[in-house]
Amino acid sequence: MQAEIITIGDELLIGQVIDTNSAYIAKQLNKIGISVYQITSVQDDRQHILKALKDAEEHVDIVIITGGLGPTKDDITKKTIAEYFNDHLIHDAAVLKNIKALWRQYNRQKLLQVNKDQALVPSKAVVLMNALGTAPGMWMERSQKTFISLPGVPYEMQALVSEQVIPKLKVKYHRPFILHKTLLVYGLGESTLANRIASWEDALPGHIKLAYLPNLGKMRLRLSAKGFEVDKVKEEVEIQIQKLMPLIKKEFFGFENEEGNEEAVIAKQLTNIGKSLAIAESCTGGKLAQLFTSIAGASQYLKGGVVTYATQSKIDVLGVPEALINTYSVVSAEVAEAMAKNVLRLYKSDYAIATTGNAGPTKGDSNVQIGTVFIAIATKDKVYSKSYNFGNHRAKVIGKAVSKALEMLQKEIFKN
Ligand code: ATP
Ligand code: MG
Repeated sequence: MQAEIITIGDELLIGQVIDTNSAYIAKQLNKIGISVYQITSVQDDRQHILKALKDAEEHVDIVIITGGLGPTKDDITKKTIAEYFNDHLIHDAAVLKNIKALWRQYNRQKLLQVNKDQALVPSKAVVLMNALGTAPGMWMERSQKTFISLPGVPYEMQALVSEQVIPKLKVKYHRPFILHKTLLVYGLGESTLANRIASWEDALPGHIKLAYLPNLGKMRLRLSAKGFEVDKVKEEVEIQIQKLMPLIKKEFFGFENEEGNEEAVIAKQLTNIGKSLAIAESCTGGKLAQLFTSIAGASQYLKGGVVTYATQSKIDVLGVPEALINTYSVVSAEVAEAMAKNVLRLYKSDYAIATTGNAGPTKGDSNVQIGTVFIAIATKDKVYSKSYNFGNHRAKVIGKAVSKALEMLQKEIFKN
């Protein structure tokens, strides 16, 4: 069972908008045993869309299209899809009703013809009603192949996929079970790790695939297997993991969870153990706080955070002693630890994390080398820090600092 995802939009091809829709859809399809054969992005252009549809139909059973359904661009996607299916567009009364209801809800002015035309759908299409927006989703079938067209707005597309597309696909297709199990491994470079586990890797059965996914100081090792018997697939992967474990005993850190990131692992653990977190950031500029607050349920464990970027703010807001800064520099273990300790106290949290560093490209209020970052962790009874140098590329320094901070925090909260 294979699918292709086609994203439509000039904005994707000039790099103005990053195609996050494909990643979302691919993940959801994988979860129900549908592999993605190809992801294609095309312009808002009839010829280009037609060619993409034709190519996709040759290779896959399911084609999911997003974008090009807005009120502008002359309904290019809908017209083109209708043309592809030798069909014509008709007004769908239910969709028009939905559009009018949304209009009232948002107190918009007069409904324009272009808005009314969003209720046009190919006559052969089954409408997937979009409760969050005016562009409906459309489901078309030809022999055993399914074509699904969805709006490009990510949250509208996501709601349609999870609530309508996935359930319908599950009913229509008999699918294998796909299992991805991702191990987090710290402190080993890709080649060192590959070398160490080479004989295990060589002995992996053909239907279990291994992928190395390095990312800023940590490695994700993904095992993927597929089959129609769920228990058998799970067992086979488990056996391989048991064989692998002794080889990465010290560096293995845990399994990546469903959501696929460390902040989600941390969030879950903090919620489970009923502990709270506070964050004091300098060089990471609020990124840590942003990562945690982007996960629903953050209020369960996140007390809050501050971005004390200027030296004076570290003194005024966090109460870092000026003398400490003068003695050790604003980028130092002492200051990072004071930030962590004080933010823990200010927010009355169980854990605190703090960052202070020099992300470059020029030196700020500190003379330390560019790329130097101190990350501190505080709990009610201790505080400690680590120093790093992440090089001289600003975005990389910040990204690595965030990644290391998460790693340190994860290690700390899993101690008990
Ligand atoms: P039209 O293309 O018909 O003029 P539109 O561009 O307003 O309409 P869509 O193409 O459905 O409507 O896209 C709406 C918005 O969704 C885009 O402006 C873009 O910001 C976002 N978007 C579109 N495609 C993607 C994608 N693949 N990944 C992430 N965001 C996307
Ligand atoms: Mg568009």
